[in-house]
Amino acid sequence: MKAALLREFQKPLVIEEVPDPVPGYGEAVIRVRAAGICYSDLEIIDGKVAPPRLPLILGHEVAGVVEEVGDGVKHLSPGDRVALSWLWYTCGRCRYCLVGRENICENQLNTGFSVDGGYAELVKAPATHLLKIPDNVPFPEATSATDAVATPYRALTFASRVMPGDLVSVFGIGGLGHNAVQIAKALGARVVAVDILESKLEFAKDVGADYLVNASKEDPVKYIKDLGGADVAVPTVESLKAMRQAYESLRAGGTLVLIGLPVGELSLPVIDWILRDIKVVGNIGFTRSDIIRSLELVAAGKVRPRVELFKFEEVNAAVEKLRKGEVRGRAVLTF
Ligand SMILES: [Zn+2]
Ligand SMILES: [Zn+2]
Repeated sequence: MKAALLREFQKPLVIEEVPDPVPGYGEAVIRVRAAGICYSDLEIIDGKVAPPRLPLILGHEVAGVVEEVGDGVKHLSPGDRVALSWLWYTCGRCRYCLVGRENICENQLNTGFSVDGGYAELVKAPATHLLKIPDNVPFPEATSATDAVATPYRALTFASRVMPGDLVSVFGIGGLGHNAVQIAKALGARVVAVDILESKLEFAKDVGADYLVNASKEDPVKYIKDLGGADVAVPTVESLKAMRQAYESLRAGGTLVLIGLPVGELSLPVIDWILRDIKVVGNIGFTRSDIIRSLELVAAGKVRPRVELFKFEEVNAAVEKLRKGEVRGRAVLTF
């Protein structure tokens, strides 16, 4: 099969012929139809987050068709449409798995990081971690449900319990942010979108944001405070400044959910934090349950992830376009 290999950090991926994966007991091989390019892939390519081995096939937002199943696989057959996320394997027996928090499973293996991922014609995974895609969800949109929808989904539900009527602020209207806006709307919230680019704010309006703030022209804290303050604030960008503004824009009793990954330390005023009864929570990834619900939201038309399609052979061009911040929604490779 053809695969795009990361052979050296800070170099383009190399498309090569490699052996086809063979499914072992309990595993299935899928023929990849679409694979999303995540901001975290850039960090792996740059060597900022080093995987356990090179060469490696990246890609952890995968959708395709079951090609072959190994022994012991009863619930999948060739031809089934399935999605594979970052969660290639979770153990099902550690204390986190047992309480429904497999996103922090201590024995997890991650697609396109600890094992080969989906920038390839075929990929192999445990059948338990392949999730069926509803019939009316196209493959590219399904790749978004495995991460770019599932991450904000968990942030707005499990991590912050958004309620109908809440005011939710979303900082950064990119691959995750534009889905965060739609999920918050689906939960019945009013949404303030904050970005520093006018084009991203138009995008936010397109996907249903109620209020738009250009943080390069006006103070988002004052704007949101004038609306009464946010009940939940979600900075999706890698910016400590945006995180600080998101904190300050909260009303008393509000929740700041951190999902962007800036390097550095976030400094917050402790007395204000306590006296205003603020919650600050981290949120890493999602569980398979969050992905299933994300796929259902997409199937129901409540969330429409925007994707920009590239041919598999254009993987390096797509990576560079994402790096420049020029992709509207999610960059997705198609096969
Ligand atoms: Zn991702
Ligand atoms: Zn576990």
